[in-house]
Amino acid sequence: MECIFCNIVNHNAEAEIIFEDDEIIAFLDIQPINYGHTLVVPKKHYDNFLTVPQEELSRVIKTVQYIAGAVKRSVKADGFNVISNNGESAGQTVYHFHFHIIPRFADDFTFKPRFKNYTDEGIKEYADKIRSVLSKYKDIYNG
Ligand code: 5GP
Ligand code: ZN
Repeated sequence: MECIFCNIVNHNAEAEIIFEDDEIIAFLDIQPINYGHTLVVPKKHYDNFLTVPQEELSRVIKTVQYIAGAVKRSVKADGFNVISNNGESAGQTVYHFHFHIIPRFADDFTFKPRFKNYTDEGIKEYADKIRSVLSKYKDIYNG
């Protein structure tokens, strides 16, 4: 299947590349939320966050940290978001795993919380469910 990010990795499609090594590439998003909006992408094709091997993901996140500092400084952002959209419902449109680094400025827009504090109904139930699933994953986690 044709993948736009694989084409960028192979230099078969144009992109404003800001970083590249043997395993990772970072380039500006073509439809930036704010100036400096950057995508950090492993060169190997993995569909999403869950299918990237742990060691490779570690290298990607280290690169995200390195690049985020540079992006923040270069556009004089007040802050930034590091996000990964996974699945259509979460807004994923390119099925080649990537992190977004989105520079943020005071009052540019807001994410509204669903709950305001832990007394809200359901919070404990969700925490228990997550803890229960995590305990089943223990063996595959070697962080
Ligand atoms: P997603 O929605 O999958 O989390 O993020 C995909 C991102 O890739 C979007 O923000 C979109 O603007 C960006 N994008 C899609 N096609 C291209 C392209 O050809 N070049 C660049 N630089 N960015 C792209
Ligand atoms: Zn790809």
